[in-house]
Amino acid sequence: MNPVLLSACDLSFPQLQALLEEWGEPPFRARQVWEWLYVHLADDWEQMTNLPRALRERLASHLPLVSPRVLATQVSSDGLTRKDLLQLADRETVETVLMRYERRRTACISTQVGCPIGCLFCATGQAGFRRNLSAGEIVAQALHFARLLRAEGNVPADRPLTNVVLMGMGEPLLNYEATLEAVRRLSDPQGFRLGQRHITLSTVGIVPGIDRLANETSPNGGPLQITLAISLHAATDELRNRLVPINRRYGLDALFAACQRYVARTGRRISFEWVLIAGVNDSPAQASALADRLQGLIAHVNLIPLNPTPAYDGKPPSRQAIAAFTAVLERRGIPFTVRLRRGIEIQAGCGQLRGVKRET
Ligand code: SAH
Ligand code: SF4
Repeated sequence: MNPVLLSACDLSFPQLQALLEEWGEPPFRARQVWEWLYVHLADDWEQMTNLPRALRERLASHLPLVSPRVLATQVSSDGLTRKDLLQLADRETVETVLMRYERRRTACISTQVGCPIGCLFCATGQAGFRRNLSAGEIVAQALHFARLLRAEGNVPADRPLTNVVLMGMGEPLLNYEATLEAVRRLSDPQGFRLGQRHITLSTVGIVPGIDRLANETSPNGGPLQITLAISLHAATDELRNRLVPINRRYGLDALFAACQRYVARTGRRISFEWVLIAGVNDSPAQASALADRLQGLIAHVNLIPLNPTPAYDGKPPSRQAIAAFTAVLERRGIPFTVRLRRGIEIQAGCGQLRGVKRET
């Protein structure tokens, strides 16, 4: 069930320091290697030209450092969204997506191979759970796109990626340690240097995980500054139990109590994701129940028209139904965005490319 092979990206800085010290290297070596990995984005020990050859060879024989193998790529017709199916060392596969906006370049990365939650409409959930990713495997997805963007040029060399969203395959809070380690790695001011506010963690609502996250600290001693997104999809337990099975364990009252604690502790606004499904959760009554739930919470709602998946016969709502839903939110003063259905033709919904690849 656990990741099979330790790679260079699986080591934390203290672990790298300890390894190099054990090998009798001078103290500054760990920092040199770290910068090669996370600032210069090296994907071969041989690129680390200021390290002695013998050390490069020793590192190469102990710790694999390779870009993940890309098994399949799909690019949207406007060229702005690219989805890669990456192969891991044990031949499992995960999807990772790059989205380009005017000024942002966002990687949407996976935290598990598959997902144990089984939301009805989600291709990843439909395919079941295989294993957790290691911190290195999570981080490697962001490095993969950062290298790609840098190679293409036209981006600031020191900031090829501007944002990371943990919204790919899997439930991040069920792979808590590796996910947190990856967040810390990506936001390390002496490494990849992504601001915590540029990282979003999306969860289906694992209450103990939300509380744990609320109590994490940043290097400056304050709470973490990442954005928390909750995949809500329904504002009554009756409906949410059906769409998102974990709701039977952590119902809406418990979930919203955890959200209140999270906001009180971190001062951060929470995003709520709502996949709109025609005739299922797109009624004005659900919008009104949602507005009730959000009273007194600093929140933002992202409405995402359903991306159809093979094993679920739901459809995205009509334009009129979306307008009726958003009219209720507007009237109730709830901030929201209707997400562009970017890349629908490239199976950009979570887990969909992996599904296609399996069938062929
Ligand atoms: N497990 C986490 C993170 C990964 S899912 C979570 O559920 O939040 C990321 C987002 O993709 C979730 O908001 C999920 O609801 C959404 N999603 C899954 N399947 C989808 C589909 N078929 N169409 C549109 N969005 C989908
Ligand atoms: Fe898992 Fe998220 Fe898909 Fe639900 S939507 S099955 S929690 S990946």
